[in-house]
Amino acid sequence: MGAEPDDALAINGGKKAVQHKPGKLVRWGDPEKARLDAMISQDSLLYWHGPQTTALLERVRQHHPLKYVMNCSSGTAAIHTAMIAAGIAPGDEVITTPITDIGSTIGILYQQAVPVFADLQPHTYNLDPAAVEAAITPKTKAILAVHLSGNPCHMEEIKQIADKHNLILIEDCAQAWGAKRRGQPVGTFGHIACFSLQNTKQITCGDGGVIGSNDERFGPRLQPAADKGTDRGNPKNSLHVLATNYRMSEPQAAVAAAQLDRLEGIAAKRSSLGKLLSQELTGIPGIHPHEIDAEDRCTHYLYFLRIDPTKLSCDRTKFVAAVKAEGAEVSAGYIPELIYEMPMFQQHGFFAGRWPIKEFGLTKMDYTQVNCPVAKDILRTCVKVLLNEAMDEDYIRQAAAAIRKVAKHYAI
Ligand SMILES: *Cc1c(COP(=O)(O)O)cnc(C)c1O
Repeated sequence: MGAEPDDALAINGGKKAVQHKPGKLVRWGDPEKARLDAMISQDSLLYWHGPQTTALLERVRQHHPLKYVMNCSSGTAAIHTAMIAAGIAPGDEVITTPITDIGSTIGILYQQAVPVFADLQPHTYNLDPAAVEAAITPKTKAILAVHLSGNPCHMEEIKQIADKHNLILIEDCAQAWGAKRRGQPVGTFGHIACFSLQNTKQITCGDGGVIGSNDERFGPRLQPAADKGTDRGNPKNSLHVLATNYRMSEPQAAVAAAQLDRLEGIAAKRSSLGKLLSQELTGIPGIHPHEIDAEDRCTHYLYFLRIDPTKLSCDRTKFVAAVKAEGAEVSAGYIPELIYEMPMFQQHGFFAGRWPIKEFGLTKMDYTQVNCPVAKDILRTCVKVLLNEAMDEDYIRQAAAAIRKVAKHYAI
């Protein structure tokens, strides 16, 4: 390719583009210890009237203003709880994305409802409002909008569709702590918001979740829906439907409350590093940066770029190996296959090989016939760039230089 000696790829023995190491991520320390110490001297470790839970929920409300909030055991539990509180019934359809954590769909399936997969926007990797509207049928009851990687969905359009068709709008904010759509915190657009505190998320207590709502119909149901159907404040208001035990205990809440105090710093840093990376990756043939609306705050659970295989002479595996050799932390792909491509969906075998609602004629869904070509293309061409608050601008610039160098080397 006539490359200068300095341009030789590190994978071929050249000098690495990344000389500046990303900082070591330290996620917890004295604030978490102080809360855990205080927790140890409590009489009870139950969430109900628990000081750690109270502190956690107050802090969630500061960042994501929600009148009703309930902590729970995971993001998956938060989404199942939202489905119970929303009254999602057997055979109801819930429209969502095929690129997400499997936890987005588990609660839908446990309610004997039907996840309906709509296609995505090619570069935000979020639901395409037009595809959502096209997926609506008389059985559609809700939309589950996932803010993938902390990039806010185009909520005003999705909300308009939900309102027009009288659908319940649920936000999966598991990867979107601290994210804002045009200045408004995610979780406050729809009827119910779900968050995860699992170990990989921006803030964490190992495992945990939060559900919230500003809606008077659903908000009061969140606590009982995550606690065996029992309204602890007013047992007369208990749910009278099946709900499982998704409680979080005080040790988790103690760590989570301390983590919420770190959120603003973490979110601001991830957002600004993501913007810098996008700037640095703009205009490179063969590379599409992660598309984020200029007015939005994406808090980058990860940074996703896409390669354009028609503009590069290498495949994604080779591209990623070369960028990694330059010293940047990247990897190919995200989930191994689209959610509906998983064997459990293809075989309709959710419950010991069976799917009662299909057997009883409550749904005609056939996942072997679902086709989301844009999502498929995204999964085939996306590259995950590790991004976190321990990194600095020098590292991000060098990581971008590594990507640019490799793209240039393999440019057709
Ligand atoms: C992590 C995640 C979940 C599930 O959360 P858990 O706490 O792991 O159960 C759901 N949706 C998305 C988008 C996630 O990233």
